[in-house]
Amino acid sequence: MNKCINTYYNNVTFGSGLTQKTARTISSLSAAQLSDEFVKAYKIDANFKENNVIAACSAICADIYENLSKTFKLPLASTPKRIRVFTPEDLIKPQRNSFGFCIADTKKVLKSEPPFELKSIFFQQHKLSVKDIDDITEEMHKKGINSTNHFLYEYIHEWAHNVHLDWIYNRYGYDGLCPYGRKVYQSEHPRGLKIVRKMHDTKFSSREKEVISSTVGTYAAESNPFELFAETMAKLICDSLDNDTLLPKKNPFDGFSDFSEDFRDIFIRNTHF
Ligand SMILES: [Zn+2]
Repeated sequence: MNKCINTYYNNVTFGSGLTQKTARTISSLSAAQLSDEFVKAYKIDANFKENNVIAACSAICADIYENLSKTFKLPLASTPKRIRVFTPEDLIKPQRNSFGFCIADTKKVLKSEPPFELKSIFFQQHKLSVKDIDDITEEMHKKGINSTNHFLYEYIHEWAHNVHLDWIYNRYGYDGLCPYGRKVYQSEHPRGLKIVRKMHDTKFSSREKEVISSTVGTYAAESNPFELFAETMAKLICDSLDNDTLLPKKNPFDGFSDFSEDFRDIFIRNTHF
C-alpha cells in the first residue's frame, strides 16, 4: 500500500509505468496536504513549496523505500532529515546538478534558513508535468547518461544517497559538526565523514569507466563512487517496481547478480557496500 498517498486518496492505483491515469493522479495531489502527511507518516520535515509533482513523487518514493525495508527486510529504512524545494536564487552556492541534491554533512544551503542536518534532500522548483519528467528521463537514459528511464529516477537516486550515508555513518560513526549526526551516529573513533569525502574525491580509471558506463551510464562513470551507488540503486529499485502499484514486486538486490563480475567488483570495492 502507498502509505503517504493512500492516507488522503484512498486506493489510488497506478497504471503500467507512467500512464495518463498516473500523471492525472499525481497532478491532482496537493503538495500542502502531502507535506503534512510526510511529517505524520515519516517524521520528515518537508516543504514542497506547492509543487505537487515533487511532493507526489517524493511520497511514492518514501513508500517504496519503506516497503523495501518492511516487506523485504532490507536495510533501507533511513529517511531524509528534511526535504526542501529551492530556486537558484535561494541557494548560497550554485549547484552542479540542477535538479536535486543531498548533503552528506551539515551545511547552510538556503539563504533564508539556518544550516540543515546531514541527509537533507533538495529539489529544484520547476513547472514540469510528470509526463515532461518522464520524457526527460527517457531521453537521458537513451543517451546513456542515467541508469534507468523511470520517471521516479531522480527521487530514488537522491534517497539512495541518504541510505548510503546512513549505512556509512552507522558503520564508521560520524566525525563532523552536525549535532543531529553526532547524536545518531556515535562511535569511539568516528571516521564516516572522512570516508564519504574520500569517496567524493575518488575518480574511476578508464577501464572502470568503461565497465560502469556500459552498465549504469556515463553519469556514474564520470562522477565518483557516491554517484555509482545511487545510480546502481536507482536502476535496481526501478527495475523491481510493479507497474500497477509502483511498489516493489521483488527484492531489487536479486538483480545485482545479473551484473558482470567486473562491475560487481568495482561497485563493492568502491562504495563500502
Ligand atoms: Zn547523486
